[in-house]
Amino acid sequence: MTTYWCEHAWVPADGAVDGVLVEVDDGGRIASVSRWPVPPAGAHVLRGLVFPGFANVHSHAFHRALRGRTHGGGGTFWTWRQGMYDLASRLDPDNYLRLATAVYAEMAVAGVTAVGEFHYVHHPPGGGRYAEPNAMGEALREAATAAGIRLTLLDTLYLAGGIDTPLSPEQRRFSDGSVEAWAERALGGDSGAAIHSVRAVPRAAIAEVVSLVDGRPLHVHVSEQPAENEACVAAYGLTPVRLLAESGALGPHTTAVHATHLSAADIEALGSTRTAVCFCPTTEADLADGIGPARELVDAGSPLSLGSDQHAVVDPLAEARALEHGERSRTGQRGRFTPDELVGALTSAGHAALGSPDAGVLAAGAPADLVAVRLDSPRTAGCLPAQVVYAATASDVHTVVSNGRVIAADGQHGTLGDVGALLGAAIEELWA
Ligand SMILES: [Zn+2]
Repeated sequence: MTTYWCEHAWVPADGAVDGVLVEVDDGGRIASVSRWPVPPAGAHVLRGLVFPGFANVHSHAFHRALRGRTHGGGGTFWTWRQGMYDLASRLDPDNYLRLATAVYAEMAVAGVTAVGEFHYVHHPPGGGRYAEPNAMGEALREAATAAGIRLTLLDTLYLAGGIDTPLSPEQRRFSDGSVEAWAERALGGDSGAAIHSVRAVPRAAIAEVVSLVDGRPLHVHVSEQPAENEACVAAYGLTPVRLLAESGALGPHTTAVHATHLSAADIEALGSTRTAVCFCPTTEADLADGIGPARELVDAGSPLSLGSDQHAVVDPLAEARALEHGERSRTGQRGRFTPDELVGALTSAGHAALGSPDAGVLAAGAPADLVAVRLDSPRTAGCLPAQVVYAATASDVHTVVSNGRVIAADGQHGTLGDVGALLGAAIEELWA
């Protein structure tokens, strides 16, 4: 039995409280949580405020190599996408293992203990098959294991270059060619599933996927850009959300990613079916997507989680704050989400969207994932623990425990070391 004593910790119902002892069993799960005013002998002391582990619900690991390389000349979402295709064409299972290991290590030091990898670079450039058809997905699994974080591989179906549009040459490696071939490759193990978008998956195929996924997490990009809505309405007479609804794709196992440009009827369709939504605020700002109706979705019934998507920023605390700041800018009102709701989006709602509804909470039975945040840094000194989510950054995360084990401390990864050096080497190799 390992014990962690937290100077302050974020616990169910009460939020930030003082003096909490967390006992961890040999399987890496929390055995007990109790109030304990001073550290008992032998406990691992975690100063500051300890949150449950953060879930990064939406990741494309390779996009990290685009950070700081897409801003020349301004550009648009669509010119950014062209740069992403260039990068995707350079990936193979070996270099993707090195890149993803570095990216997941960056997440680990930022407090992420579980990631949802929306994975669509399945096949060799041009569209053949690797000898091991899941070689790219296996590289991602190995990378997450090396970084010490849990991975939900959201194996993504990608069939078309747009509605009624064939795949472009650079998109061919994303496609299995049919739902049957995708399911045969992707659904043999414990993977979650994803529909890339209503652009890349035709109407009939969406319904076929729904019949196959059988309770696995199902994620889908929805209405990130107005152009997607316009194309969908022109082709089907339905918004993307309505198209998904009529295909049976909405429900509590489904997560709609972005959900930026929605009608009132779309919000009602998502909320009334308890479909989850994942916002990626730093990406949505970086790509000029817009600000989605987060509060309205939660009020309608949709659980809300967060993702770093293209990794222009990897900082879960910054995502939570950007969510609230977006709401404030959009509505002219402060306090659109309570601190407890923001922490829930970072933790319990996120893990649930990744198929682990028991995770992301400091309670007996949950995986022992702890994120300790300094309260004495230049950013956080003087903050009330209950409100530090409005001020802290990933730089204030000093210790990260995943499944009961310390995986990162003081910005260094426990086994992989200096994350900046890892990232620099992996990214330089790709662009060389
Ligand atoms: Zn995405």
